[in-house]
Amino acid sequence: MRAATAPRPARALAPRKHAARRATVADAARSLADIERAWARSSYDLSLRWPLTNELCALEIARAELDPARFRVGWHKCKSYVGITYLYDDERDGGERGDVFLSKYVMLDPAFENVVGCVRHELAHAVAGVAGVDHGRAFKDACDALDVPEAWRKATTGAFYSRPSVQLMWAKCDAEEALRGRGRDVLPELLFERNVWDAPVNGNRTVFKDEESGVVLDAFEMYDLTVAEEARAANSSDVVA
Ligand SMILES: [Zn+2]
Repeated sequence: MRAATAPRPARALAPRKHAARRATVADAARSLADIERAWARSSYDLSLRWPLTNELCALEIARAELDPARFRVGWHKCKSYVGITYLYDDERDGGERGDVFLSKYVMLDPAFENVVGCVRHELAHAVAGVAGVDHGRAFKDACDALDVPEAWRKATTGAFYSRPSVQLMWAKCDAEEALRGRGRDVLPELLFERNVWDAPVNGNRTVFKDEESGVVLDAFEMYDLTVAEEARAANSSDVVA
């Protein structure tokens, strides 16, 4: 659970008041209890857990009153940390942004409170801004505001790792993934941490440029475009069929 900042330091985020928008989002989404029930039914299956994790993050980003267009979520596969947040200023408009990456192992976790704790910890970094990178006062205030579980309020979570049976399941899932081959990974390659940022501190953020139009898209925008195109292709093949 580290927080890194890009070369240009982000400013602390101003308090937000979007109660009306939050109510609308909450109405449209499944509740935390619904997601928890689905989590319990989907043990150690990343193909089910990745969409569930995204659903949880959307709910928590709205709950933290953060802009879902500016705070995005990807994944990583390190065991040395659980979550990491990169805070930076958008080059196009100077607005604050944050890229949150969650370990695939926390997505495999049997305990729903662990993924909730990890997501809220990272969003507390987003709310606190650079002032919260050291897990000090600003970060603790953000933890209070977001109701981060006690076990997830520090820089490290030893208890997350001290579970031999869970770690055995991590190894089993890794072995199954290796047997299936790389081409069948269920997590999107575009949103893999090292494919978005080449280093946590003073790193470069990957962007994609269309040579003809000159349009520049970041990895998350590129991912959204790919998903939308796949959905369009699936719809048109439905019509043909
Ligand atoms: Zn942290």
